[in-house]
Amino acid sequence: MSKSINEENKELLSAALACAITKRSDHDSVGASASVLHTRSGRSYTAGVIETDTNLLTIFPEQTVLLHALLRRDIPIESVTSVAPSTATLPLVLKILADAAARIDRGFSYTLAKPDGTIVFETGDVRHSLPGYTSPLSKLEEFCSESYKDDIITASNSLKEAALSGMQRHIRTKDSGSRYGAAVRAKDGTVFIGASLGSPDKRLGLHAEMAALALLLSSGRKQFTEIAIVSEKFPVTPCLFCGCCRQFISDIARKTGSAPKLTGYALNTDESMESSLSELYPNPWSSNTL
Ligand SMILES: [Zn+2]
Repeated sequence: MSKSINEENKELLSAALACAITKRSDHDSVGASASVLHTRSGRSYTAGVIETDTNLLTIFPEQTVLLHALLRRDIPIESVTSVAPSTATLPLVLKILADAAARIDRGFSYTLAKPDGTIVFETGDVRHSLPGYTSPLSKLEEFCSESYKDDIITASNSLKEAALSGMQRHIRTKDSGSRYGAAVRAKDGTVFIGASLGSPDKRLGLHAEMAALALLLSSGRKQFTEIAIVSEKFPVTPCLFCGCCRQFISDIARKTGSAPKLTGYALNTDESMESSLSELYPNPWSSNTL
């Protein structure tokens, strides 16, 4: 008899699927994937996939649940369980998870199930699924000594303050390198902070503003009104949004019916640059326009 994931995870994943953003339709979770991550502290985090028109900028739900745990310094991670319509993304996802386990120096389990809950892949320690893998990125020792700190939702009314808090949580990919932080305000006023999450495949890394938006969407909220960034790389002049993030924000804004204001802050001065999305990125690519 085939094994199934447990009822608790089934329920959590079914709710997470409703947070997915799929390519075909904003509200169609058929064909979507979702993940749940449990930590030793007893907390669990869920997320749905965020599919983008460009495909390259798609965020796997495993990346978002890792963000939840890592940005809160809520480790050790015990398990990640996902449902997906196919196993096509499995090798990429295994690398992301095995890399995280290697960097925090502790293995955790990974289970992948079909949408009906039937398990199609299971490992007790993601590191064993990629024998011999060592992360080229620096270890996250500093995370291991820290326990749960605070939330990735902030009551702060200042987006710069919230983005700075994101910058403090930046997950380094090497010992040097500039830290970035972001914050996004949902339509209901809730502010989510984000920090970049490095990946050994640089293409699979998440920029801070992508991370903040992924966390907002995983809460079930869709629309957002403002997004801001700050970085050590821009101490005096306003921080710029990179081209990938302009396309990503544009994709998500269109799918969620949002018209956000984008603000780049300078780290050490009062300089800032505020633009509407259409000013900053006037001709976004979309599969709908082809
Ligand atoms: Zn970017």
